[in-house]
Amino acid sequence: MNNVFMNTYNRLPVTFAKGEGSWLYDINGKKYLDFGSGIAVNLLGHNNPALVKAVTEQAEKYFHVCNYYNSDVSAAFAEKLVQVTAPAGIKNVFFSNSGAEANEGACKIARKYSLLKYGEGRHTIVTLKGSFHGRTITTLAATGQDKFHKDFGPFTQGFEHIPGGNIELLEKTLDEKKVAGLLIEAIQGESGIVPQSQEFIQAAAKLCAQRDILLMFDEIQCGLGRTGSFLAFEQYKDENGNPIKADIVTLAKGLAGGVPAGAVLAGEKTKEVFKIGDHGSTFGGNPIAAAAGLVVLSTVNTPEFLKENVRKGEKIIAALKTNAKIKEVRGKGLMIGADIETESWLLIEAGIKRADPGKNLNGLLMLSGGINTLRFLPPYTILDNEIEQGLEILNELL
Ligand SMILES: *Cc1c(COP(=O)(O)O)cnc(C)c1O
Repeated sequence: MNNVFMNTYNRLPVTFAKGEGSWLYDINGKKYLDFGSGIAVNLLGHNNPALVKAVTEQAEKYFHVCNYYNSDVSAAFAEKLVQVTAPAGIKNVFFSNSGAEANEGACKIARKYSLLKYGEGRHTIVTLKGSFHGRTITTLAATGQDKFHKDFGPFTQGFEHIPGGNIELLEKTLDEKKVAGLLIEAIQGESGIVPQSQEFIQAAAKLCAQRDILLMFDEIQCGLGRTGSFLAFEQYKDENGNPIKADIVTLAKGLAGGVPAGAVLAGEKTKEVFKIGDHGSTFGGNPIAAAAGLVVLSTVNTPEFLKENVRKGEKIIAALKTNAKIKEVRGKGLMIGADIETESWLLIEAGIKRADPGKNLNGLLMLSGGINTLRFLPPYTILDNEIEQGLEILNELL
């Protein structure tokens, strides 16, 4: 079956047919506990009744109209998203379909903002080593990992990568004559769950404000309530103890709970940079995705829900820390990385192969965050007894 696909993914030997809550079932009826949410996408689990209802009802009305027109449900989604992110400084939104497309939009805004205000030559976008921003030619240029930088050049010019945590280097690199924006994941996901320090983000925010360099947060993986605040960077404070405000934020992955959706969110400085004709996307704000997104936004942003994500995360982190086979644990809320001695892919494969209904054994779905790093991004709806089961299976696999 797989030879009809281009050979881009090393797919595991399992074919899913059905999902329910934190569980997926394959075509042979084997059962797998989902500690990955399809890479931070299925925030509300599988077959979530509210999501299914919203998508089904919207499908019965209309699927798509395109951005020549207004759509009632897309407008409601945009309003809700701006309302939810207003405390982080957000004023308006552009909808895309994916994370890479959202980051492309963010880079375009940064370039145009700087060009209009300061003229040519001030177009550099600084990102961090270990970052992941997408797979298009421009977002690969933004991605600070050399393993992605082969075979596809020449890349879009004007990107620089610096290590996180080095404030002196940051200060030197954020040259106000050259740099338009700084793009950061508050907690890096793909490269193994690496949080930036409070000091570093504080310095970044201060330098960006002083030099009119746009502060842009890629919240595609760490956002949407996963770490206990709607946006992960909202937990970082400026010198006076006030929450940091962003000039641009990007979202995607779980934004519509499993239906493709992305968003570029703009603050006061950037909300009017794009003019008619500057940017677009055929499917952006798609009504089916918007209907699902409305359910996600109204569910995940309650204080109780956010607190539960942190509590569940702490429970997982505490258990992982007592496991002698695990060398280091990083993360916050339901975004957790664990360094192990074996190759993470061996364990991920073993988690699949364990499933055996005859012996009453379930599989465990995990993600990789590097050669020796396991990454856990469970659905927010995961139950305590499911967390316990998953941890037991993991312990056995280790
Ligand atoms: C997944 C991811 C992207 C890319 O999103 P796609 O929807 O795959 O294009 C960008 N940034 C971060 C932080 C991500 O985790």
